[in-house]
Amino acid sequence: MTGKMSLQDAALAIVRQLREHGHQALWAGGCVRDMLLNRPPQDIDIATDATPERIVSLFRKTRKVGMQFGVVLVRQGPYWIEVATFRQDINYTDGRRPEQVLFTTAEEDAKRRDFTINGLFYDPLEDRVIDYVGGREDLAAGVVRAIGNPAERFAEDHLRMLRAVRFAARFGFRLDPSTAEAIREHAHQLTRISPERIREELEKMLSHPTRARAVEQMAELGLMPFLWAGAAWPAERVRMAGAVLAQLPADADFVLGMAALLHDASPAEVEAVGRALRCSNREIDDMAWLVSRQGCLARTQDLALADFKRLAAHPQFKKLMILHKAVCTAYGRPLDGYEAAERLIRRIPADQIAPPPLVTGDDLIGLGLSPGPAFKTILDTLYTAQLNNQLRSRDEAMNRLGEILRQAGQGREAL
Ligand code: ATP
Ligand code: MG
Repeated sequence: MTGKMSLQDAALAIVRQLREHGHQALWAGGCVRDMLLNRPPQDIDIATDATPERIVSLFRKTRKVGMQFGVVLVRQGPYWIEVATFRQDINYTDGRRPEQVLFTTAEEDAKRRDFTINGLFYDPLEDRVIDYVGGREDLAAGVVRAIGNPAERFAEDHLRMLRAVRFAARFGFRLDPSTAEAIREHAHQLTRISPERIREELEKMLSHPTRARAVEQMAELGLMPFLWAGAAWPAERVRMAGAVLAQLPADADFVLGMAALLHDASPAEVEAVGRALRCSNREIDDMAWLVSRQGCLARTQDLALADFKRLAAHPQFKKLMILHKAVCTAYGRPLDGYEAAERLIRRIPADQIAPPPLVTGDDLIGLGLSPGPAFKTILDTLYTAQLNNQLRSRDEAMNRLGEILRQAGQGREAL
């Protein structure tokens, strides 16, 4: 039974249960916006006048996630749905995040939300939108507008500046002029929010097909220099980053998005940015590898077969091809190298890209050599020859090893 239940059915059942017990209960925020835009909502949040304790008592399976903020997860069929008590954030005069909230009315709850398009409620039993903030009009006009006084709202929570850009880019909306003005004024305060939260917003922007627009808009609003310490974004660099991002396929991920954004950076800069944004070591390595190697494919024809195979064996090679093509296209450069790489990939059998080595360290140890720098050089030389199709069997490889060792021996005697 539960397998067939839709998210809507589940969210409707929760509203019905709360109503039957005398409470107000409405769908709230992003899901209402998405429905009015004819986009399937990712999740449905419910807002109610029932207190957290009351919510917990009315449902069989619940999980308290933020009781002090009035948030309870309610299990309905296969879904966990967020049910939150109408609340008002109490902000301290020194601008810290609210530590306490006040349970209040639907109208006040709408007003503490960030943008008018995010401040709508929907009554699913009566099929009625409830709008205390002018959100419906702004949705129809395609405008992202802060609820209340924009400067105050951005001073309360600086992350809202990035959220404004994200929603505007995602929906192709423009920013209301006074909202945009307030962002320009407060842009420098981005440095006061945690790198983790910045990264999260950046990841959402760069993972979305509208990523180029998001970056252009951050630049227009003066946000780019404050995303991480030491960020330098002259107009031309922004323009080219946008042009490369615009060439990525719709489903490109965060790592590829960051590599496109930083395509002209040095490996040291990529690493510094990755660290500043608290990216994982894996992500940083991948981003740095993509940025530092994408140019190699411009001269695929001149690469030794072994060097090409080493690139192609990398787990991020598919992304490297995509990034290289995007950079070439953005700069109006020819795609010869890209096409040559495509041909090579088709021609080289999959098991020849990174074949097991014909000669291993064990073989060397068997011949009485001990591990060290020379040892490693010998193995590299042999493997390179193998990748270049110069050694086709183990016998050939062992013969070559014999030659290398004889030459090395002569070298030593000559000394
Ligand atoms: P998405 O589709 O990206 O999840 P969303 O609108 O659902 O978009 P969430 O971050 O999930 O965004 O937040 C849910 C709702 O909570 C928002 O629609 C908004 O009403 C409110 N909200 C979220 N973050 C803030 C914030 N920083 N300041 C004020 N209100 C916020
Ligand atoms: Mg959401």
